[in-house]
Amino acid sequence: MVKAVVTRNSDHVQTKRPLCQSCGRPLSKDEKGGGTEANGTKSALYCSHCYVAGKFTAPDMTAQQMVHLVEGKLKEMYIPGFLAKRMAKDIPTLKRWASQ
Ligand SMILES: [Zn+2]
Repeated sequence: MVKAVVTRNSDHVQTKRPLCQSCGRPLSKDEKGGGTEANGTKSALYCSHCYVAGKFTAPDMTAQQMVHLVEGKLKEMYIPGFLAKRMAKDIPTLKRWASQ
């Protein structure tokens, strides 16, 4: 039997958590607390791995390359392949990639 209530609750929680709009990592898990703008303030959109001093650390990257990178990182963390794929598949919908 499908537990619809549980699914709805977890979706609700996920939409409230800010994610890096480049790699999809939760900003709350960023050890530096987020990326930085050119003037040194914290970025509200990107994590410290993607965005430093107002610039993307890998400006030529494509959404597909980011999907592969994140999948690889998740597997390094012993996350099973199917789960890593599922977690990485929404990356192309993030703000950084939406215009590509
Ligand atoms: Zn990021």
